[in-house]
Amino acid sequence: MTVQLFVPSFRIEECLSEIRECLEKGWTGLGFKTAEFETAWKDYTGIPHAHFLNSNTVGLHLAFQLFKSKYGWTSEDEVITTPLTFVSTNHAILYAGLKPVFADVDEYLCLDPESVAKLITDKTKALIFVGMGGNVGRYQKILELCRAHDIKLVLDAAHMAGTRVDGKHVGSDADASVFSFQAVKNLPTADSGMICFKEAEDDERVRKLTWLGINKDTYARTAAQGAYKWMYDVEEVGYKFHGNSIMAAMAIVQLKYLDIDNSFRRQLAVWYRQHFDGHNRVTVVPTAKGCESAQHLLQIRVKNRDMLMLALNEHGVYPGVHYRDNTDYRMYAFAAGTCPNAAAASQEIISLPLHLRMRKADVDLVSELVLKYAQ
Ligand SMILES: *Cc1c(COP(=O)(O)O)cnc(C)c1O
Repeated sequence: MTVQLFVPSFRIEECLSEIRECLEKGWTGLGFKTAEFETAWKDYTGIPHAHFLNSNTVGLHLAFQLFKSKYGWTSEDEVITTPLTFVSTNHAILYAGLKPVFADVDEYLCLDPESVAKLITDKTKALIFVGMGGNVGRYQKILELCRAHDIKLVLDAAHMAGTRVDGKHVGSDADASVFSFQAVKNLPTADSGMICFKEAEDDERVRKLTWLGINKDTYARTAAQGAYKWMYDVEEVGYKFHGNSIMAAMAIVQLKYLDIDNSFRRQLAVWYRQHFDGHNRVTVVPTAKGCESAQHLLQIRVKNRDMLMLALNEHGVYPGVHYRDNTDYRMYAFAAGTCPNAAAASQEIISLPLHLRMRKADVDLVSELVLKYAQ
């Protein structure tokens, strides 16, 4: 028997029936189900604007690109970011021709407001916050810092579909929040994402930017009749970043079960925590107070991480690491040594298997192995 880190679950018949609608209608691209899913997402989250994309990565890129041109930022301008993330977060800053500046993380493995505060200068134009594993960490403090210094806040919410704080879904107070519905996220499709801007004008503009800069309003106004569909305007160099109806069809089904799925994830986490409670060789990364986490991950810290990983593998248990300190990568080595907490975490963290096919017996098995081999 093996226990994998992530195994996505799909309501197959329901997904197929939504996809069938696309095939029967002859509409698999932009529009139809993408519009339906955007509405469902806005209803579910209470976030006012949402545009469906082909990934979270392109959404992060677009957020920086759009703000850069809107506010006239230059290649000297800086974005404060975390070294402990999937590399998309930091690549997005570079895609937009801005400078990543790495701040350190706290015990939640999220950006530490104290470290951030020390790095703010006149050049700081934006900050990107990663809600690690679905956790908000000290997001509220970061938000206050950003507001006080007129810094645009981008939330990389790739792990946060369904995360609520004091009963309210995350994402509506950032200047842009970007979700991921990639194959192994907690709302899995195959590849897709959602960008949610705070301002209506940004949402309007991003809809053009994700379709080559084409302004559909022109033909929507003049030629809904059909004869002048080619009479659109192209206002700027946009991209091919929008999502499609097949992915949206899957997402519509997955969203219906998101709350149930997330509460099962939290139950798995509770069982893990019960096992590790009182054992000081294993520290479970805490969830911030008031945060109902999507629980995309359950992360622990141990001193003998690499050895423990191998021991678990030998028993058919395959955990993961989220993430390697990005300043260990050649691309970001210019910042090596600047974030000691992230560097330490990077050596100690393990994400234990967490998915909907697991049962309590699997959690028991994995936990007992961890306790047996952790030093
Ligand atoms: C998965 C992930 C992304 C990228 O999401 P895609 O939809 O695959 O582009 C970005 N940031 C974090 C933190 C992620 O985990």
